[in-house]
Amino acid sequence: MSPDADPSCLFCRIVRKEIPAKIVFEDERVLAFHDVAPKAPTHVIVVPKTHVARLSEAGDEHAALLGACLVALIGVARMLSLDSYRVVVNDGAEAGQSVFHLHLHLLGGRIFAWPPG
Ligand code: AMP
Repeated sequence: MSPDADPSCLFCRIVRKEIPAKIVFEDERVLAFHDVAPKAPTHVIVVPKTHVARLSEAGDEHAALLGACLVALIGVARMLSLDSYRVVVNDGAEAGQSVFHLHLHLLGGRIFAWPPG
C-alpha cells in the first residue's frame, strides 16, 4: 500500500481494486470509473491515486497531480464522445462532498441547469 493511502477510504480501496468499479481509464497517477449512482446518463468519477481528502487540502506539491486528473478527464470525455459536459468538484460536506478523497465528477448526456443547485 502506498504511504499516502488511507486504509478506510472508499476511493483508495477502489484504487487498490479491493472494491469493484467499472474502470474507464487508468494510468500511474489517475483512476476513472463510472459512478455507482449516476446523476446523468454519463457520470464518471476521476480520482488521483494518491489520497488527498479534498480540493482545499491540495497544495503546490499537488499541482501536477491535479493537472493529470483534468487531462485524464478530458481524455475520458473524448473517449465517451461527450461534446458538452460539466465538471464538478464538491469540496466539503456543505458543498455536497460525501467521499473524502478528492475527485472530479464528469457529467454528460443531458442539459445542465445554471446556476447549479
Ligand atoms: P461526492 O458526493 O462529491 O463526494 O461524490 C461521491 C460520489 O461517489 C457520489 O456521486 C457517489 O454516487 C459515488 N460513489 C459512492 N460509492 C461509489 C462506488 N463504490 N463506486 C462508484 N461511485 C461511488
